[in-house]
Amino acid sequence: MSDHYVQVMVQQMKSLGEDAEKEGVHSEEQVPATPVSPDPPSITATGRDESRASDQSRKNRSRLGRADRISCGNSDLSLYSSVVSAHVAKNLSRLEQERNANVRGGGKILQGKSETNGNYATIQTSKNTQDTRREDGIQLARRRRPVTVDTAKAKTSLEALKISIKQLKWKEFPLGRRTACDIYWHGVSFHDNENIISGQVNKFPGMIEMLRKINMSRAVRTMQDLFPEEYDFYPRSWILPEEYQQFSTQIRMVKENDTTLNPTFIVKPDGGSQGDGIYLIRDPSDLKFMAGSQAKQAVVQEYINKPLLIDKLKFDIRLYVLIKSMEPLEIYIAKEGLTRFCTEPYQEPSQKNLSHVFMHLTNYSLNIHSGNFVHSDSQNTGSKRTLSSVLYRLAAKGVDVKKVWSDIISLVIKTVIAVVPELKVYYHADIPPGKPGPTCFQILGFDILLMKNLKPVLLEVNSNPSMRIEHEQEVAPGVFKYVPSPVDKEVKVGVIRDTLRLMDPVQRQKPCNPVASPDEEALPSLCLKQVYPKYAKQFNYLRLVERIAGLFIRFLGVKGNMRLGPTAFRTFIRTCKLSNSNFTMASVDILYIDITRRWSGAVADSREAGMGLQAFVEAFFFLAGRRFKTLALRQQVASMLELCLEWRSGNDRPRTT
Ligand code: ADP
Repeated sequence: MSDHYVQVMVQQMKSLGEDAEKEGVHSEEQVPATPVSPDPPSITATGRDESRASDQSRKNRSRLGRADRISCGNSDLSLYSSVVSAHVAKNLSRLEQERNANVRGGGKILQGKSETNGNYATIQTSKNTQDTRREDGIQLARRRRPVTVDTAKAKTSLEALKISIKQLKWKEFPLGRRTACDIYWHGVSFHDNENIISGQVNKFPGMIEMLRKINMSRAVRTMQDLFPEEYDFYPRSWILPEEYQQFSTQIRMVKENDTTLNPTFIVKPDGGSQGDGIYLIRDPSDLKFMAGSQAKQAVVQEYINKPLLIDKLKFDIRLYVLIKSMEPLEIYIAKEGLTRFCTEPYQEPSQKNLSHVFMHLTNYSLNIHSGNFVHSDSQNTGSKRTLSSVLYRLAAKGVDVKKVWSDIISLVIKTVIAVVPELKVYYHADIPPGKPGPTCFQILGFDILLMKNLKPVLLEVNSNPSMRIEHEQEVAPGVFKYVPSPVDKEVKVGVIRDTLRLMDPVQRQKPCNPVASPDEEALPSLCLKQVYPKYAKQFNYLRLVERIAGLFIRFLGVKGNMRLGPTAFRTFIRTCKLSNSNFTMASVDILYIDITRRWSGAVADSREAGMGLQAFVEAFFFLAGRRFKTLALRQQVASMLELCLEWRSGNDRPRTT
């Protein structure tokens, strides 16, 4: 174990200084069972990555609604599902005209040909099938009852949500509803409404906990241990107070090795937001450790001291990301986001300017209080601008904006891959298999900084990004009032409305229906772009910890626990045949006690005693290291997983020991 730690520390030192779907349809308003398009058209398609998809994943994917398909029109992954459907919808009337023309001319026609990334998918469908589908689609659109949304707990999202629901011609229940709704919009957490057993909730259980600064740093660090190069977009971080010694020793060594180096660090309290309690330091001795008699839980992080500047100001990007589903994983990114500007010209950190928050922190909630904050109704000036206006400006300066976007997409996918394993444990605890519950989706707010060399850096992920469409304005000295903010409205209404469109239960229920309802047709094209599974091929190899989490959940059983007891841990060892004469069951118990004790001190708000996922992952790494000594960590883990999952092949029964 200690070898592994040394190895990780050395790696760290080296890099220092471098820059279940339920539809929720109720009898009172049930949609008539319209016989919609029984047979999908026969399609020839290539390039689909299904290598990892489980049967269930495939089933779910094939149930995706029309809206998904439109949004992933360029997907190399789903030539079949996305492009064809989108094109079918768009081309139906054209095809009809063409067919009529050909019938008149007596010629033979190819009824549909869709182009995607250089590949062609040929649609062969009969006139009757198409006509029936079209008519059925229109009938469905006419007959469908409006989707119902419970907005009673929406809090500060309410304004943008109301506008979105109105645009979609859906039905809002502002005070909640006696019977179930299709969608529940929560302002804070999955648990804002208790006892939801159907429909969809816009929060995942455990997301708040998972994205707190310490937990998130831990999850990313595990990935950095396995894939250091892939995860170099997250600044090096230490968890306080438990890693104070490592932090201080490593910084001292760095300074001793190169006396010209004087790195800066940013300290962020664990539960903090909006810049609260954040400060910069240049020496470990400057840490403010105590809050009363308690040691403060915080993350101390390498400060990125060369950010990209616009108009001499530091800025960061707020990007909206939708996790549409966790099983199978589906991620969408909003094409439009916000950029938040500092209000004091940037200078590299020095002892003199460390406390200048308007120079170093981009938080809107701080900078609004600066006399220099510029309110603007325009999207490309002021202290808050749209992302597209900033990218446009960078493109005009010759920046390769496409590359920046693709780096950002990659950062988002990798980050989600890092947090999904533990989220699955939370999900399993709240909605164990067999218990009725809603499905979940969630909009996350990614805060991203561009470095001077245009490399994106992840600052944090917000589980509850502000969806307010007003901003505070100082109307008299010291008097603030909320006034409408056109920039926020433009971006946030688009994100909420299009999230709802993607989650539309009726569309999801009718995957073969290629015809947009008249209401849908009047709306702008989706601002959310599918990035996963679109790019799954490039990222699937990173999902190792998720497989460990799968194993962990399997041994947790179905009681809704989040922690493994000693007996379950022993069962895991026995089932996977990991003990032998060199590693006896007594050593297994010692390992369990040792790791669990350490982690129970580290994880303050643990719900129950036992071994949590992060501790289990540490134990797993240790066991993998023992077993496959000569391999690199990621191969050790991959080989160990193969070994542990071996018994699942065949008839899914553990090997007898
Ligand atoms: P909060 O949740 O309190 O907003 P953040 O992690 O977003 O905390 O940090 C607040 C601000 O501090 C960011 O918006 C950014 O401007 C700045 N910041 C955070 N981390 C770094 C870093 N590692 N390097 C440079 N600036 C940072």
